[in-house]
Amino acid sequence: MLAHSRLLASVAAFTHHRDIDALDHSLALSLAELASARSVSLAKRATGGCGELESVVRCTPDAQGHYQLQVIEPDQADPALASMRRCIERPEVLAEIIGPGMHRLVAPILCDGRAIGALQLDSEVPPSASRSLVEGFARIYANYTALLNESERDKLTGLYNRRTFERHLQRLLSRHDSPARADELAVDRRDAAAPVQVWLAILDIDHFKRINDSYGHIYGDEVILLLAQQMRASFRQGDVLFRFGGEEFVVLLSASDESTVHAALERFRRRVAAQVFPQVEHVTVSIGYARIGDSDYPATVLDRADKALYFAKKNGRDRTHGYESLAAQGLLAQAMAPGSIDLF
Ligand code: GH3
Ligand code: MG
Ligand code: MG
Repeated sequence: MLAHSRLLASVAAFTHHRDIDALDHSLALSLAELASARSVSLAKRATGGCGELESVVRCTPDAQGHYQLQVIEPDQADPALASMRRCIERPEVLAEIIGPGMHRLVAPILCDGRAIGALQLDSEVPPSASRSLVEGFARIYANYTALLNESERDKLTGLYNRRTFERHLQRLLSRHDSPARADELAVDRRDAAAPVQVWLAILDIDHFKRINDSYGHIYGDEVILLLAQQMRASFRQGDVLFRFGGEEFVVLLSASDESTVHAALERFRRRVAAQVFPQVEHVTVSIGYARIGDSDYPATVLDRADKALYFAKKNGRDRTHGYESLAAQGLLAQAMAPGSIDLF
């Protein structure tokens, strides 16, 4: 009875989260505590990759026996990740002996018959006793992430939707002020030393009404979809991509200086301008961006990026402008008319 109530409390604790990162951490911690594990790892497969891992969360006890979490940027060649990679490639439960009296059990996390990740338990518990627990956690996790993904993403493009913007923004900002804090647990991020600032860019398709009027909404939607694919291919993995509304997109980028951000956005703008879209053929985007200061409200930053976007639209479209440099050159005084983003 006691074991059942501990199990229920554990499942309730990790399904309490409404955010996939927090869910990942909580799942690893709950399973580690419940199984008194030597180590629990959760690996997720990169979307679109051929079996590569995108992220790994690992939970191990410290010298005092308190469980600590690590977020690991996976090195594809790391032998410590080999069992999980094998389990993802050939999705079935794996049992191994990894030392005297030490067992490893790896269960695939399945979504529509495909492994989206793997859950690994290293412990003294033999596989016959831990298998149903690990498989059960993997199944609950799979169902729950599918639900969360649906509510967080835009249906047409699969990018994050606007509702999730503030949460992503807070997460990026807190990662910068305090790399060791995530969901009140000690998390080691290997990328903590690199980027120092966050930037917000708004991307708006030029003359999209004309595209709809000339070719119809179906082709209009196709352009939106292809543009989202170009965004995925062009921006880095750590950049967060949103479809904010009809033909407006937002990107959150981490970088150490403005020139890096400008170059990344320009690379995307040129890529779109060079692509041939079905029927419509040529499509361009205008981009406005602004830096997010520590004490800025999200609405203020959106408004600044929108002013830079408005400037780009007024000055010929198919161009990228940053709010700070426009303001420093005194070019924003007359560009006070509301832009295209509906802020509230
Ligand atoms: P501008 O260069 O100034 O941005 O001109 P625009 O025509 O793109 O103007 P604006 O951004 O204000 O208009 C966006 C239009 O996009 C309005 C609407 O007809 C169309 N639209 C909005 N959402 C969707 C969508 O989901 N699918 C399609 N096909 N069209 C959409
Ligand atoms: Mg537009
Ligand atoms: Mg628009």
